[in-house]
Amino acid sequence: MQATRRELLAGASALVLPGSARATTPALSGSNRAGKVAAVPARYVRLKPSRFADAFAANRRYLLALDPERLLHNFYVSATLPAPKPAYTGWEAQGIAGHSLGHWLSACALVVANTGDRDVAATLDHALAEMARIQAAHGDGYLGGTTVDRDGTTIDGKIVFEEVRRGDIRTGGFDLNGGWVPLYTWHKVHAGLLDAHVLAANPRALPIMLALAGYLAGVLEPLTDAQMQQVLRAEHGGLNESYAETYALTGDTRWLRMAEKIRHKAVLDPLTAEHDRLEGLHANTQIPKVIGLARLYELTGDPGKATAGRFFHDRVTHHHSYVIGGNSEREHFGAPDALSKRVTEATCEACNSYNMLKLTRHLYAWQPDAHWFDYYERVQLNHILAHQRPDTGQFVYFMPLSAGARRSYSTAEESFWCCVGSGMESHAKHADSIFWSDADTLYVNLYIPSALDWPDRMLACDLDTAMPMEGAATLTVRRAPRSSQAIALRIPEWSVGATLTLNGQPLQPTLRNGYAVIDRTWTPGDRLRLAMPMRLRAEPTPDDPRMIAFTHGPLVLAADLGPASQPFDGLGPALVVDGLASAALHPQAGEHRFTARSSLGDMLEFTPFFAQYDRRTAVYLPTFTTAGWAAAKDGYVRAQAERQSLARRTVDIAYLGEMQPERDHGFSATRSETVQLHGRSARKLRAGQTMSLTLRRRPGPAVLQVVYWGGDVDNREIAIRVDGTPLAVDARKGPGEDRFVVVDYPIAGTGEQGKGTTKIDFSVRRGDVDIYEVRMLSAGAAAGALSTA
Ligand SMILES: [Zn+2]
Repeated sequence: MQATRRELLAGASALVLPGSARATTPALSGSNRAGKVAAVPARYVRLKPSRFADAFAANRRYLLALDPERLLHNFYVSATLPAPKPAYTGWEAQGIAGHSLGHWLSACALVVANTGDRDVAATLDHALAEMARIQAAHGDGYLGGTTVDRDGTTIDGKIVFEEVRRGDIRTGGFDLNGGWVPLYTWHKVHAGLLDAHVLAANPRALPIMLALAGYLAGVLEPLTDAQMQQVLRAEHGGLNESYAETYALTGDTRWLRMAEKIRHKAVLDPLTAEHDRLEGLHANTQIPKVIGLARLYELTGDPGKATAGRFFHDRVTHHHSYVIGGNSEREHFGAPDALSKRVTEATCEACNSYNMLKLTRHLYAWQPDAHWFDYYERVQLNHILAHQRPDTGQFVYFMPLSAGARRSYSTAEESFWCCVGSGMESHAKHADSIFWSDADTLYVNLYIPSALDWPDRMLACDLDTAMPMEGAATLTVRRAPRSSQAIALRIPEWSVGATLTLNGQPLQPTLRNGYAVIDRTWTPGDRLRLAMPMRLRAEPTPDDPRMIAFTHGPLVLAADLGPASQPFDGLGPALVVDGLASAALHPQAGEHRFTARSSLGDMLEFTPFFAQYDRRTAVYLPTFTTAGWAAAKDGYVRAQAERQSLARRTVDIAYLGEMQPERDHGFSATRSETVQLHGRSARKLRAGQTMSLTLRRRPGPAVLQVVYWGGDVDNREIAIRVDGTPLAVDARKGPGEDRFVVVDYPIAGTGEQGKGTTKIDFSVRRGDVDIYEVRMLSAGAAAGALSTA
């Protein structure tokens, strides 16, 4: 303990003076031996009114609505200090408290770095002051809010770290000694403190960060390599990156050794050897490891550390990603180029795209080629914008691409999923990647309305555009050096026949690496206008050329299948196409609007996917030739009829684990928690717990239909009652199945006269039961196939 105390003091002695964090960081800060270009610091960039500015503003409101003392609840408890406020619920109450705090610190720091926002700076400063106080109470650098369940009791998670220090390491993959990814959570806090120091220049952050880094280093340094690899089997976020960054800030090689020790060989060695062994891996666990290695390449110049990043990015973006640029199905990578069977309601976890964009920035800095930003733009427009509701600032976890799916949004105080955390950051940095530069050239990479004012370089300009709704952008130079200055405009890969004018006159620029480069002496008022005509394109899945998504310019289109509030029980539309698939869509007046006739004759309307926040959508559509449709039609129609019959018989549905549906159905429970498993929300009931809800019912015999996960079998027993009368006792037996299963419980009788509603009680006698959906049907033919969520 003596040594760690010294480390804390060493950290404290490194205290920087108020407002001078930037100036006191040693020479390695910002060091990037590989970097050919760097992003223009966000403090020189202001977002102009646009949907990006709206997203930023909604996110800022959410950041300010969160109370750091609530995010720190478990931290106070861990240090045996009085906790002034209760903890939040959702994931914040499930063992990984602190992950949200870490993202929140980073997000606040990003806002402050961009706009200098005083309100956000003040709440960030308060959080840091409290963190310093809590850390001092521990006295050894520890600062955490994770908990662990032991013998049926939830206890402080510091015990896990102390066990690991002694070489007592047990891990399955997601847990470390029974704690749910404590190192993942630790990384978020470490990264948040780094951002508070580097981006927000808050003088409190560095000493807290150094003491925190010292505590964990003290835990991990004694471990053998074999023990370390065992620890690294559990998800650990970008812990290698945060130590690399700590080294960059301080020049202290202790942190470099830590960063290099946190190398998960089972994943990073194959990637370094350029082998794609990603199938079956949890996607978001891997991306940050690669980012950390990329950062180490920048700091050490070791070319071996660059290979994994380049290879991984290429494999993920070209062989494991959907049309919106996101990846993963139920959080996992599948086989390369096999996407057509993996278009479900649980595609594209938001965190993955957040992390892939971070990796993209590193790779671009090494090789300033426009294609990196073609990918960046695709993800930012079609996934990141889609995953935040611009009105509430709330977030989507999975971005569902299956036909008929809808988005499930977080709530402000009850969700705190990983994707809420990364979402807070994603929407705090819309200004940070628009402009890049090297010594000679200003690169314009993203067409986001903004103003650049960069006094150090004598550069100021306005970027005005209605992108992504219109394919044109104007750059007006406000100030420029007296000597010549090159400006490089990215020519998007999707544009067809882009043209450039200077002050209204056609201009032939130099074309280089996907950019139009104009090198001249600028006069204030000079206007460059880039026209980027858009066209409609069909993008098939790699493994099934007849499974098609459509894009128009940079935007992915989706068929609008009705309001999210209405159930969707059809199969999803198909198209009959004999020639070019894009010929099936007909342009309409309005921005990015198209119509098509479905194979069954219905009129479909296609609009940008990202903006269909409250709709049920279809992104990928199966297409048939006329002959193929003739053969497939009967089966398709039959399946469609079954789905629709189910829809007609459905009187009421409650989606469990979702706030509004539970409220609408008078949900109540003894304890019970919400979980998100297999891409859907559910209620988890343990032995002895009960829940009840009220469903509408039509007169006459009925069927209660319940959706469980097929893998949840054996050693579980649940009793169901209807209006107080026993209905069924369900003890589901194996073998387990890797899909949702639907169980029908016929209800005799006619329902209580004139009441129109029925109270359903579930009580668990043995084991755990996850219940996803409860549906009331009027009795009819045998139940049809499972509906989509
Ligand atoms: Zn996530």
